[in-house]
Amino acid sequence: MGDYRQMWTDLDLDLAKHDELLGILGQVYTQIYLAQKDRPEGMKYFDFVVSEAHGLRIQELQEHRDKGGKVVGAFCVFVPEDVTMALGGVQVGLCAGADFAVPASDGLIPSKTCPLIRASLGFKMNKTCPYIQSSDILIGENTCDGKKKMFEIMGEYHPTYVMDMPQKKTAASRDMFISELKALVVKLEAETGRKLEPGALSAATGKLEAKKAAIRRLNKARAAKPAPISGLDALLVSQIAFYDDIDRFTGKVNELADELEARIKEKKGAFSESAPRLLYSGTPLPLPDWKLFSIAESLGVVFVGEESCVGSRYYTTATPKCDGSLDGQISAIADRLLGTHCACFTPNSERVDDIVSMAKDTNADGVVHYNLSFCQTYAAESVKVEKALKKAGIPVLSLESDFSANDGEQLKTRLQAFVEMMK
Ligand code: SF4
Ligand code: SF4
Repeated sequence: MGDYRQMWTDLDLDLAKHDELLGILGQVYTQIYLAQKDRPEGMKYFDFVVSEAHGLRIQELQEHRDKGGKVVGAFCVFVPEDVTMALGGVQVGLCAGADFAVPASDGLIPSKTCPLIRASLGFKMNKTCPYIQSSDILIGENTCDGKKKMFEIMGEYHPTYVMDMPQKKTAASRDMFISELKALVVKLEAETGRKLEPGALSAATGKLEAKKAAIRRLNKARAAKPAPISGLDALLVSQIAFYDDIDRFTGKVNELADELEARIKEKKGAFSESAPRLLYSGTPLPLPDWKLFSIAESLGVVFVGEESCVGSRYYTTATPKCDGSLDGQISAIADRLLGTHCACFTPNSERVDDIVSMAKDTNADGVVHYNLSFCQTYAAESVKVEKALKKAGIPVLSLESDFSANDGEQLKTRLQAFVEMMK
């Protein structure tokens, strides 16, 4: 990595704390990722992206800002990145997948809050996230109560705008969501000083769809036996999707998919053909939350899909065709996003159906349903998910955890028992 200290100082990062974070991340990445065997060559690009996540990519964002462009930070897949792009902005997903920042939220938000929410706020408070610091505005959403209240606090420290999300999938909710998207457009137009044009929006949606198609292609390859790529590597690609340059990322994912398709022909796998196969389902696993996958894959099982927002909920639903007008395109974006079967909706039976069909499509031997501590919506849905999978004859294991390493041994024991039972 080059010398980025001046840039980090200009971004008002806490350099000592930030060094500590980079030290931990570098060590964990080497232990978990670089130690894997039989990785596809194409993963080298993604290793490079991780190594430069706080360096080169941040420098690119600063260059974009120096030219008058804006950076928009988002915490949820409901924030439409094509709208940001069409207004000349760059949208970055704010990962917050590490317990490193959780303590920095102490005293601001109750400790019995989802660690994702606590870390999101913590990364702002301890000034270690160059993506938050580079964001001209943060776009939040009231998908769950914890986030809703966290964004009120975040707004005291960083410019923040909150989208109002529908709770149901009715026609009235769709109308409400379309008007919320239009309000977001007004906000982002004011932020960027640009007017949203139909041509620019359809070009941006086209780029987004090309990116999602590349990720879909990669994930389709994982249905093969043996799985041509580890779950850890596939998860990393989904995590990087939220912050890399869109055109470069799409090209590299397609190159990786080419390689995986060639590996399938040669029957070359990241794991042996007899390795037990698992589908992940549950709360998002943002960068660098690799704990569960690293524990499971060290036991010789392979994850073959993720029913998650860092996974299928991000890439599955395509934007429907429309008449090309601005109104028509915004309605189409609303329909695309309403196809994201997040547990914030009620009822949300489509998600349960998705999990059953994904388990079949990926040739999974079992499903791990995983939710972050204090996430009530996903915990509540785990009961329905278990019922549906049992009915379909698919073994399921429900786990709850946070980002800390404290429960690693317990997760390992439960996963071991589950894998034994599947055999
Ligand atoms: S789980 Fe729901 S709230 Fe969380 S990122 Fe996904 S869509 Fe957004
Ligand atoms: S994991 Fe659950 S509680 Fe945490 S932010 Fe997402 S929906 Fe909210």
